[in-house]
Amino acid sequence: MADIQLHNTLSGKIENFVPQKAGEVRMYTCGPTVYDYAHIGNYRTFIFQDILRRFLKLRGFKLNHVMNLTDVDDRIIANAAAAGVSIRDYTAKFVQAFFDDCKTLSIEAPEHWIRATDHIEEMVKLIQRLQEKTFTYPGEGSIYYRIAKFPDYGKLSKIDLTGIQTGARVDNDRYEKESARDFALWKAPKPGEHFWETAIGPGRPGWHIECSAMAMKYLGETLDIHTGGIDLAFPHHENEIAQSEGATGKHFVSYWLHAEHLLVEGEKMSKSQGNFFTLRDLFAKGHKPSALRFALASVPYRKQLNFTFDGLQQAASSVERLRNFADRLKRGKFPAGNQEGMAARIAKAAEEFDAGLADDLNTAQALAAVFDLVREANVAVDKGEFRQGEVPTVLEFLATFDRVFAVVQDSDGEKLRALGYGSADGGPDDAEVDRLVAERNAAKKKRDFAAADRIRKELADRGIIIEDAKDGSVRWKRK
Ligand code: AMP
Ligand code: ZN
Repeated sequence: MADIQLHNTLSGKIENFVPQKAGEVRMYTCGPTVYDYAHIGNYRTFIFQDILRRFLKLRGFKLNHVMNLTDVDDRIIANAAAAGVSIRDYTAKFVQAFFDDCKTLSIEAPEHWIRATDHIEEMVKLIQRLQEKTFTYPGEGSIYYRIAKFPDYGKLSKIDLTGIQTGARVDNDRYEKESARDFALWKAPKPGEHFWETAIGPGRPGWHIECSAMAMKYLGETLDIHTGGIDLAFPHHENEIAQSEGATGKHFVSYWLHAEHLLVEGEKMSKSQGNFFTLRDLFAKGHKPSALRFALASVPYRKQLNFTFDGLQQAASSVERLRNFADRLKRGKFPAGNQEGMAARIAKAAEEFDAGLADDLNTAQALAAVFDLVREANVAVDKGEFRQGEVPTVLEFLATFDRVFAVVQDSDGEKLRALGYGSADGGPDDAEVDRLVAERNAAKKKRDFAAADRIRKELADRGIIIEDAKDGSVRWKRK
């Protein structure tokens, strides 16, 4: 098997992946800031880390993966105060939506799901360690990190800080700092907003210290892998390094992996731009979870991915092709025995699939290996050359593929119903629509157009649009 190669943002190079402890991977992923619903750009990054963890598991590694929920954030605290509710109450529906979305997109639960609000004490202790080593200074009730004391600052993002002048205003911190690039570890309370009473005074933690403290609590002072979207490399991850390495004097993370952005018409998909879709926006238009997962996973994570509805439609057809192929093999009756050369062909596909993923998670290459095999096997079936003896091996390969991509096994209907789409109250489910469409086809065949129109109208009233294609086939979609 090929060595696993990963692109490390720290070195800017592709490196062989070797964890500290053989057979085990300690990995941290910056989770969502739960002040709103996550959009599909966020899920591109979470699906990337899911493909990574699933592939590492497939290779036999034991995973210790931590993902946090950032539920301490200036916007969250301000919004909760404005609504007159606690942080927990304010974030509850976004947290639930995030868990639901992960389930819907078959994003595996990490070994530890943790919240910033449960780790204030660890954050305070880490700030105290930094205080003892004089990495900090106070300012009007806040505590700042003194970047001048950490010469390695900038080694991850290679950011050029010379342009940032002392005294210039580069973020929203309200207080005086020694240097503009310094950042808040601890923020003084704001009137009317929630704060914690702690050994370092009243206030709230800064975002960066949250991840340093939580990562080291669960994974030790040196982690194997840290992941996030590319926008987190600076300043968030740069600051995590400064804090953790400042406090421990040890190397914080061996491999930094960053996913490129999801774009819409050339722009980053983001809340602030207003150019975003949530999962619910797409499901309401009749798209399926598997199609979205496939679309987001199919482009290698270090390439930007331009989101289009055409692309989503193509992803749906690709998933359909795989499912039809699996069905064809499961249901088909082929002549006994083996087809010459087929066992070697399947083994080659399996090897290329693995090699694609081992090559810095080149999902496009891994998918090509699968689709090439599917095409060739379909041709063999059409020609009557395919043999029963091959069925278990091909199905086993598809199952292996699905341990990483998780799209062949069809649970779309179930997932959508769980979210309230296509349920008894939300409209007919897929099976019922298929049945009614078949009834309408039969009515048309009998030239009973009144019955056919009645069924079309019934479906339209229940949110289903039927499209008759020129070639006589019928498609349907949810409004
Ligand atoms: P947030 O909830 O803003 O903290 O973001 C959660 C994750 O989504 C982070 O890893 C971000 O880097 C990532 N992210 C945000 N916008 C995008 C995007 N358009 N494409 C890919 N990842 C994104
Ligand atoms: Zn983080």
